[in-house]
Amino acid sequence: IDIYVAALSNDLGESVGVVVVLNDISELAYLERVRRDFVANASHELKTPITVILGLAETILDYKDMPENMRTRFMGDIQTQTLRLSSLVTDLMSISRLETTQNGVMTETVDLTASVKNALSNVDNICREKKITLSNRLPKGEMLINGDKEEINQLIDNLIGNAIKYTPSLGHVSVTLKALDEQAQIIVKDTGIGISLSHQQRIFERFYRVDKARSRDLGGTGLGLSIVKNIVEKHKGTISVSSIENHGSTFTLLLPLS
Ligand code: ADP
Repeated sequence: IDIYVAALSNDLGESVGVVVVLNDISELAYLERVRRDFVANASHELKTPITVILGLAETILDYKDMPENMRTRFMGDIQTQTLRLSSLVTDLMSISRLETTQNGVMTETVDLTASVKNALSNVDNICREKKITLSNRLPKGEMLINGDKEEINQLIDNLIGNAIKYTPSLGHVSVTLKALDEQAQIIVKDTGIGISLSHQQRIFERFYRVDKARSRDLGGTGLGLSIVKNIVEKHKGTISVSSIENHGSTFTLLLPLS
């Protein structure tokens, strides 16, 4: 709390009262801290692959007769780190775009059935490669909401992408879309590694990862669910998670129908 105190006196210099202003800055201070942490985290996350790339490039340049197989491995590492940088920058740009367009007027009509179908066809190959069965229950026709089509697609892609990412081979991912009262309900369910209760409350925070090394190996940035949460809030929806460690997770999304 910010406190301002001033004594009041009359023309004769006699004290006649006191003015006290109490300003609750806790919310502001909190937001400021969140922003500072975010910049620090983002810088750190960007710096790590840059350092690795620089080191590898210097080694390749200095080591003139490097064996071919070693050079190939180093080039592969540079590629991996560059892809990581690219994902990070893409996610940071999404966050920045979301922040500048927060609470925009939703003039576009988005067909959720088409968005989910599109997301499912995008992951067809990876599911086949990973031997994950992908099933769905979708309405026959359109299901319309007011929103930003690109953001809605990103939201669905992120949830389905995570389900596949955190589900080992021979697992199962299912996606359900249906109307529930005045809302569209999307359920993304997987039989993957699950999330313990203590982590469930924090996974929507920026850069929060249950297992940093695992997420990184799978190409994660730790930003996907924070982007999801932002998009959901912008569309006046809700998202919840229920999960049992080592058994799987279910993300349930509700969005107001148009
Ligand atoms: P990431 O890029 O690391 O996947 P997200 O913001 O998308 O970042 O998710 C945050 C963390 O939540 C992940 O690192 C992972 O630990 C956990 N998580 C998200 N989705 C799932 C899921 N379907 N199953 C298990 N863990 C998940």
